[in-house]
Amino acid sequence: AVPLVVAINTSTAARNGMLIRDRIAMEEARNLDTVMFDKTGTLTKGEQGVVGVRVASETRQEDGEAVEAGDWDEERAFAVAAGVEGDSEHMIARAVRDAAEERGVRPARVSNFENLRGLGVKATVDGERSDPGDGETVHLGGPNLVEKLGVERSDAMVSFAAEAGANAQTVVYLIRGESEVAAAFALADVVREESRRTVEALHEMGIEVAMLTGDSEDVARAVAEELGIDQYFAEVLPEEKDTTVERLQSEGRLVAMVGDGVNDAPALTRADVGIAIGSGTDVAIESGDIVLVENNPLDVVRLIKLSKASYRKMQ
Ligand code: ADP
Ligand code: MG
Repeated sequence: AVPLVVAINTSTAARNGMLIRDRIAMEEARNLDTVMFDKTGTLTKGEQGVVGVRVASETRQEDGEAVEAGDWDEERAFAVAAGVEGDSEHMIARAVRDAAEERGVRPARVSNFENLRGLGVKATVDGERSDPGDGETVHLGGPNLVEKLGVERSDAMVSFAAEAGANAQTVVYLIRGESEVAAAFALADVVREESRRTVEALHEMGIEVAMLTGDSEDVARAVAEELGIDQYFAEVLPEEKDTTVERLQSEGRLVAMVGDGVNDAPALTRADVGIAIGSGTDVAIESGDIVLVENNPLDVVRLIKLSKASYRKMQ
């Protein structure tokens, strides 16, 4: 039989929009001293839209210098980008496809699609070699991918990215082969209204707030500053998300992880209290000890308060 106090607690939780999958974790929540949030889709709405594009200029320099692949105009860049993102379920992919559609650009046909988790995507552009890029392998992804491929960015691309980053916009690059940046896209996301109050309320409870993201340092810093977050980890690869949680735990902290994505699942499992966002992916939900039914970060505060109130009564 379920002990009465826990039964009451569970239905109270349900009324508050949380689903408890692990009662021990719910009890542990009252002792948390650190809450780590995933950025995209958790603190932000994850509804990205393309707000800027920069194609490489005509200049092409010799060995050692950054090369710009100048023969792709914006239309071609959108066509190839939308084609390469055709089979990706990532929010960035959806934003790129929507932007192409809004411009009336038909996605290029591609084959050999590969999803490079936490980095971007890759495909071969099909065609009769009549359009620039036909027959070429193309990558699309963020700074982690650029670094992994060892791609040099031109000064123009670096300053495009810096300006976008300062405005908390995510930048992804369309890369020809493994070496030339043909275009860069800037994407804007919206911070959830409740995120700032969540950070404030956690601080009032003496809890430190951290943020984890696969996004760039620039974007992470801008969002962390806007929300008053104590500590952030940027450009974190999917396989590093759980070790980042572990790192905080090894400092003796009791850590909750809040996330929504496939990549967040190991970190949710690793955390002392794993909190999944209800609109998130199935894998995240299955990895969470507690699921927030509404997509409201403030429910993390309610959850900790509920844990404190319920388990105080029991003692
Ligand atoms: P987050 O940790 O912010 O939820 P992800 O781990 O899913 O993000 O992705 C990390 C980064 O990898 C993104 O910010 C982006 O730069 C790049 N990326 C991942 N998937 C894609 C994709 N389909 N298209 C372009 N870029 C991608
Ligand atoms: Mg996410």
